[in-house]
Amino acid sequence: MKKILVADDEMSIRLLYSEELKEEGYDVITASNGKEALEIVSREPLDLVILDIKMPEMSGIEVLRQIKEKYPDLPVLLSSAYSEYKQDFGTWASEEYLVKSSDLEDLKAAVRRHLKN
Ligand SMILES: [Mg+2]
Repeated sequence: MKKILVADDEMSIRLLYSEELKEEGYDVITASNGKEALEIVSREPLDLVILDIKMPEMSGIEVLRQIKEKYPDLPVLLSSAYSEYKQDFGTWASEEYLVKSSDLEDLKAAVRRHLKN
């Protein structure tokens, strides 16, 4: 079973994403901040990470940078309520930048695209 980490400081998003992704047949772990996300990445074998950008203390962009430094092959999708971070070159290391929406079809399609067999 493919294992996905969802890191978002909003509990409602963590719940929504994990329920939807579990329904798709994935194993889902959640983190509520960047530090926790990095701890999980260093200890669990993961197939993909979904990162919120706006989180307290450590932004998703910083988490992305640290993940890609150590695990360049681990696919990371950024998920933000805002599209303005697309201008930030720090986001370019991600596989995709998704703008949050109540319709999770785009997110699920991106997950399918970037999961390696
Ligand atoms: Mg947030």
